[in-house]
Amino acid sequence: MTNYQPSELEPRWQKEWEKEKLFFTAEKPEGKKYYNLVMFPYPSGKIHMGHVRNYAIGDVIARFKRMQGLSLLHPIGWDAFGMPTENAAIKSQVHPADWTEKCIEQMRVQLKRLGLSYDWNREVNTSREDYYKWTQWMFLLMYQRGLAYRKKSRVNWCPSCETVLANEQVINDRCWRCDSTVEEKELEQWFFKITEYAGRLLADIEKLSGWPEPVKIMQRNWIGKSEGIEIKFKLKNQSELLIYTTRPDTLFGVTYMVLAPEHPLAIELTKGTPQEKAVLKYIEKVKHESTHERAISAAKDGVFTGGFAINPANGDEVPIWIADYVLMEYGTGAVMAVPAHDQRDFEFAKHNSLPIKEVIRPSNLEHRTQELKEAFVDEGIMVNSAQFDGMKSTEALEKIGDWLAENNLGAWKTNYKLRDWLVSRQRYWGAPIPIIYCDKCGMVPVPEKDLPVKLPRNVELTGKGASPLVKVEEFVKTICPKCGGAARRETDTMDTFNCSSWYYFRYCDPKNEAKPFDPEKVKKWMPVDQYIGGIEHAILHLLYSRFFTKVLYDAGWSAVDEPFTNLLTQGMVVKDGAKMSKSKGNVVDPDYIIEKYGADTARLFILFASPPERELEWSDQGVEGCYRFLGRVWRLVLESLEPASEPRGSKNPGNRDVQSSVSGKLQRKLHQTIKSVTADIDKFSFNTAIAKLMELTNVFYEFKGSDLGSLKLEVGCLLKMLSPFAPHMSEELWHQMGQQESICSQPWPVYDPELAKESELTIPVQVNGKLRDTILVSADATESEIKEKALASEKVKSYLAGKELVKSIFIPNKLLNLVIK
Ligand SMILES: [Zn+2]
Ligand SMILES: [Zn+2]
Repeated sequence: MTNYQPSELEPRWQKEWEKEKLFFTAEKPEGKKYYNLVMFPYPSGKIHMGHVRNYAIGDVIARFKRMQGLSLLHPIGWDAFGMPTENAAIKSQVHPADWTEKCIEQMRVQLKRLGLSYDWNREVNTSREDYYKWTQWMFLLMYQRGLAYRKKSRVNWCPSCETVLANEQVINDRCWRCDSTVEEKELEQWFFKITEYAGRLLADIEKLSGWPEPVKIMQRNWIGKSEGIEIKFKLKNQSELLIYTTRPDTLFGVTYMVLAPEHPLAIELTKGTPQEKAVLKYIEKVKHESTHERAISAAKDGVFTGGFAINPANGDEVPIWIADYVLMEYGTGAVMAVPAHDQRDFEFAKHNSLPIKEVIRPSNLEHRTQELKEAFVDEGIMVNSAQFDGMKSTEALEKIGDWLAENNLGAWKTNYKLRDWLVSRQRYWGAPIPIIYCDKCGMVPVPEKDLPVKLPRNVELTGKGASPLVKVEEFVKTICPKCGGAARRETDTMDTFNCSSWYYFRYCDPKNEAKPFDPEKVKKWMPVDQYIGGIEHAILHLLYSRFFTKVLYDAGWSAVDEPFTNLLTQGMVVKDGAKMSKSKGNVVDPDYIIEKYGADTARLFILFASPPERELEWSDQGVEGCYRFLGRVWRLVLESLEPASEPRGSKNPGNRDVQSSVSGKLQRKLHQTIKSVTADIDKFSFNTAIAKLMELTNVFYEFKGSDLGSLKLEVGCLLKMLSPFAPHMSEELWHQMGQQESICSQPWPVYDPELAKESELTIPVQVNGKLRDTILVSADATESEIKEKALASEKVKSYLAGKELVKSIFIPNKLLNLVIK
């Protein structure tokens, strides 16, 4: 018998699979389609364990579905634009394009070594012209539909990446990529109007029944819908101040207003008044604070503008202040302050000696005797609110809102926290934005026939300041497509999240030169049936992709308006309690594991060690254990094929009963295993599926030495079930058993419910030789299981009370006798 040598057999089968084109996608899905997608990697040059986990999960699903007869699309590609490549290229003095190609080559080899069943024929690379041409096309689609615009505003700036960032890329005030503290800059930038889709992006979360609840909650919160009312406050100088509130029930309690310091009224109101100097000084001070600092600021200081607003509900004149905690970017840049019912307003009022007026009281309190110690923020009964007095505050909220709307003093409005997506970047390694500036014609989109706007190769990269393209004269200087005059190109590139927002469409038609994809081809595969990737994309990539899909749907390019039917977010791989990282020195290199144990062991361990959504703790013993298990299967199959050195069944000489009972037990175990492994893989419970295959192998071992050679069919079933997890070894053994076709294209085993049924036996239980009870046990129950059940019987217990159990005599399938003293 040959030894299990993964280093020899794994590459051999990988070549064979590739030669036989086993994983190529049908041009048209035959029968039921299944689009199985893993998040494509960033070509950093080396795969890590997180990748192995992501792709091993994806590959089990792919191989399982393929064997179940589904027509599969299981592609892979490269999310190849981005800053890390540019930085690495600067450091190593290699051009980013060459760097990227080299990294991809290395990683492709690594992925192939894992035996992943991708259709490599559909590989995409987002940094190549044949792909980014269409990313630019997507930009133009947004532009044509009024969804791309340029605007000067305060934006997030990462000082280390030297570029702007989208709000989604700022996590706890830090850059999502490099963890630097994000600053703010006033810049003119490109935005996509994702806010126009806020309502649909929120409402359609309800359709995503195959998504994990935490991801849906994160998206809901990020979109952040609130129902409120916009109220017009007249000013003494006849102009108007618009505010937004979700609490119109507190309108009668307004005692002052607060503007964002940037609000145009701030300067207008103070011009020529004694307050002017103080206001200007405060505005200057706030300029140096970031939005985030201001949003969490506990400062209670502000400045009175000298202006007054008139409360539309009761005609009260209230002073207008400015304060840094009000942000121009949110709502209308102004708020009405109700210190009695909002804690922040309360503290501000106390600090600045502003009046506090109560309009809601807890129902059990008729007259307040003491001063308020803090804001009362709960529901209650209305007071000091004219015709609304005595109403429940929840009811007054509706009534006051309606009353304002009827009298044309306000309008109900839904607000969202979601901001537009900032898509331009000041870096080189991205798709150029296809826009031209002409002095005569203004902003002109590049005509589709002129795409791609090629990223020039000869660029001096410094990683500092503005886009490096600014200095490339032959790129910047161009002809206006409208008037033919001299014009300039946009020099910013696109956020790489643009590239990844539509790649799953391109996989359906990856070589199309005339269009981003043929909608008819897309229709056959989309939506993605199963998407697998990290939870860190819960908002970023997944929200942007949903947005792109909706825009493509509206434009008639996609028949679906949600891209991913089911989503699986796998947990991190950790070692010694921390995420694997170079800085912690706890990285395990997948190459090392593959060299030492083989890809099958690596895959098996990673799938066996923990359910996919959970964190996976690396364990060297765990890896060893998986390797031993594969060796056990190896020996089981090969030994059963060898001519027996002693007569078959010699361990049970002449005992046909035992022989047939073992064989019955094996049949039963096999069909039960098929049943549960199928169900387990269906619900991605890979660890329990593997555990059941281990148990089944143990049962085969009980039968070893008997006529295992006659059980080729059963052994074949074990190999088929093992093949999604450990495809190489299963394939090798399958062929050793004399099979000609690949195990990858075998039908998945189906269980027989009759055979899977647990058969049962009635066992008489004697105490000191006298029958006291009978118990029902499963046919393959062990002696100790039967004894345990007998001792639990109430009848038997009554005979044993106060006695000592001396011994028990067990005759298999016949009898249990308990001897007591
Ligand atoms: Zn950064
Ligand atoms: Zn022009």
